[in-house]
Amino acid sequence: MAISSVLGYPRIGAEREWKKALEAFWSGKLEEEEFHGKLKEIRLAHLRKQQAKGIDLIAVNDFSYYDHVLDTAVMFGIVPKRFEYEGGAVPLSVYYGMARGTKDAPACEMTKWFNTNYHYIVPELDGAEPALTGNKPLAAYREAKAELGIEGKPVLLGPLTFLKLSKGYSAADTDAWLERLLPLYAQVLRELEQEGVQWVQLDEPILATALTDEDVERLRKVCYTLAEAAPGLNLMLQTYFESVERYSDIVALPVKGIGLDFVHGSAGNVKSIEAHGFPADKVLGAGIVDGRGIWKSSLRDKAALLRKIGAYVPNDRLMVQSSCSLLHVPVTTEYETELPAQLKGALAFADEKLDELVLLTKAAVSGEASIASELKQCDDALHALESLEERVRADIRQEVAAVSQTNPERALPFAERHPIQQKQWQLPLFPTTTIGSFPQSADVRKARQLWRKGEWNDERYGAFIREQIDTWIRLQEEIGLDVLVHGEFERTDMVEFFGEKLAGFAFTKNGWVQSYGSRCVKPPVIYGDVAFREAMTVEETKYAQSRTQRPVKGMLTGPITIMNWSFVREDIPREQIAYQLAYALRQEVEALESAGIGMIQVDEPAVREGLPLKEKDQAEYLAWAVKAFRMTTCTVRDTTQIHTHMCYCEFHDMIASIEAMDADVISIETSRSHGELIHSFEENTYKMGIGLGVYDIHSPRVPRVEEMAAMIDRALRVLDPRLFWINPDCGLKTRGKEETVDSLRNMVEATRLAREKY
Ligand code: GLN
Ligand code: ZN
Repeated sequence: MAISSVLGYPRIGAEREWKKALEAFWSGKLEEEEFHGKLKEIRLAHLRKQQAKGIDLIAVNDFSYYDHVLDTAVMFGIVPKRFEYEGGAVPLSVYYGMARGTKDAPACEMTKWFNTNYHYIVPELDGAEPALTGNKPLAAYREAKAELGIEGKPVLLGPLTFLKLSKGYSAADTDAWLERLLPLYAQVLRELEQEGVQWVQLDEPILATALTDEDVERLRKVCYTLAEAAPGLNLMLQTYFESVERYSDIVALPVKGIGLDFVHGSAGNVKSIEAHGFPADKVLGAGIVDGRGIWKSSLRDKAALLRKIGAYVPNDRLMVQSSCSLLHVPVTTEYETELPAQLKGALAFADEKLDELVLLTKAAVSGEASIASELKQCDDALHALESLEERVRADIRQEVAAVSQTNPERALPFAERHPIQQKQWQLPLFPTTTIGSFPQSADVRKARQLWRKGEWNDERYGAFIREQIDTWIRLQEEIGLDVLVHGEFERTDMVEFFGEKLAGFAFTKNGWVQSYGSRCVKPPVIYGDVAFREAMTVEETKYAQSRTQRPVKGMLTGPITIMNWSFVREDIPREQIAYQLAYALRQEVEALESAGIGMIQVDEPAVREGLPLKEKDQAEYLAWAVKAFRMTTCTVRDTTQIHTHMCYCEFHDMIASIEAMDADVISIETSRSHGELIHSFEENTYKMGIGLGVYDIHSPRVPRVEEMAAMIDRALRVLDPRLFWINPDCGLKTRGKEETVDSLRNMVEATRLAREKY
């Protein structure tokens, strides 16, 4: 009989209880013992919910005190020397030290989990002496069984993915590392087997990326070793986020189950099954309910997909699953009392997805007629969504189609615009500027709250924002910056701010998802055609410009970043959404220009995030992403200088695309890989304006003049001095006022020294 199964459930809690507990513990408001108790309560509540919904096979050990990759490293005793760990059980102080840094030791690096916005802690293998420090999956299994009678399925991050995500070893040592880790994995599984565990979910999402023959060989080794170590246990080799490469190799492995994603990469996986069948001795974990999107599944379509799969895999070897862990979606739509009913009715967060899994399992077992009324309800709900008038706006569709048919291009190429802009702006060598935001003090946040609650009227709040702008325009002049910004005091968040002003967006009350550690984000929902309504940034920018003779740079978030940091509709291609955003933002660019703003920055920090996992799909994505940026910015006058900013990730393999964006100036975060990035700009002979961030804004430390002067010297060894700008790494929103002013003063001084030399 088919059964339902979940790959993992969100940790944060419906009301972010988990986040609150972690932060209370960190700040000393919660004692360690109470903290453990609180987390146990949350963990059990999540299991209880899945049990009550009727999920047959519930994942355990998906819960974490911070991050599951960190959990795995810690379980194997892989703790960097700087945390002075001496073996045995890893204390919470060490665990959180690795995640967040201590007074003496910087935190471990954090990076994005595949193509999601979840960040994991990167294990550092150099110098590590792996040894088992505990068996967390076993503890989780025992707890679920003892407390709730749940026969859980422990989840374990697989060795190949673990290694691939780790750093601090050379590729040549991969096999040696595998040799060291496998016995530990074997031990964990053996203990689970002895305990009577039936299924273990071995997560190997790396199988959805391009695999070399060597990797497949390693995978074989992993599966043979582990199957042999615990023959009484059923291993579910779980993949997600894309279709698998090397399907035939994978289904031939000696494991009991293979979990495939039939949402992301569905086409590939279905094709593979159709072409090669599915082995008769294995269970298929069919991931048919989207673990990443927020929309209701069409139960009818999913049931049809199950039927199709059913032609190759009979019911008794079928698990109906989510496509990946539900970690990536909010907890429940229950709190969304303020959304239009037609929109709310079409949403499914984690809890609603549990219901879908149960229903679809029922359909697989007893036929679709057994869920006839639910099928009908689901059809109605999806219909209702389509009936919203925001969904399709003929006017917008027409305009965007017309605009996207032309090649968005500035009137003159950079080489010809550049001298015109030089003449217009008369900037000194190495112009100094910042990335946009200035510190959002408690006062600023307080004022916004009062205004949102209606205690302050628009006038009062507007006056407050103008005061902030005044203060910072004066400060910037006094510090001696060349190109000023208004400071973004009116914005909480660079996506939310624009989403609230554009048509086509909705905002949830409680749609939080974990981004990293206790940090959660609440992405807006793009559910309708995106359209410009009225100027969004002109008033503040114009005001700032009226207070100074120096140029003030307008500040917008780019189309790709807004899209990648939102939950988006699925009825039209992402490319179309990007063009709609671009067309709307172009109108803002034009409004700023008409208001006398001649420098406009369009931030695109999140371009990299949308990059498809499969290399073959990447060029296409980059092509339309670049096009969307150009569409946003191409209609301005020759004298108008377009800036962009990127940060948070590696760009070294994207220089050609960055160049194709055709911005006059790009400022780019470099603190993570300074040398490397400069090198790639050198190789690619990037020839437009560029500001490599000269200091890391993530730290409260005020950088010394000499440090920044050295950075500048280094950059100028490869970059053209006439095109070089000087700026911090990123926006200064989270910094304190004094440290910001001091840092910028030092930056301007370092610039003065550089100007003397060149
Ligand atoms: N202009 C934005 C700011 O300064 C850019 C933020 C970002 O790059 N993430 O806050
Ligand atoms: Zn940035």
